[in-house]
Amino acid sequence: MTVQTLTITESQHEAEARLFKALMHPARLAILDILRGGEACVCHLEAALSYRQAYISQQLMVLRDAGLVQDRRDGWNVFYHVIQPQVFAILDAARLATAQSGPSSAGRKAAGRLENCACPNCCSDSGTSPG
Ligand SMILES: [Zn+2]
Repeated sequence: MTVQTLTITESQHEAEARLFKALMHPARLAILDILRGGEACVCHLEAALSYRQAYISQQLMVLRDAGLVQDRRDGWNVFYHVIQPQVFAILDAARLATAQSGPSSAGRKAAGRLENCACPNCCSDSGTSPG
């Protein structure tokens, strides 16, 4: 009878380990940091992180398989957003645990507009036509 409890605990730890596995990559942490400010499309992540799109898609796939993010197709763009906001508490704890000396510098960057990005979020007012 008591064995059952142990089994539940084990599978729970396995699930937690899977979560940490999904988080265990600098690029994926950077992606989550951006998605903290709201949903972002792949090209936005590409511009913000200077990784190739294929690489970012690969990392997003891991996060999606782990049930952390979800994609939303809108025309030509695919937007990603976090569906497990609890993950940010883990990121915060990790940041505190690894914080170097000095006051908390603004490491948190909201999903603001980027000059080198052409996603709908970055150029919301499309009134000018070049050429
Ligand atoms: Zn953008």
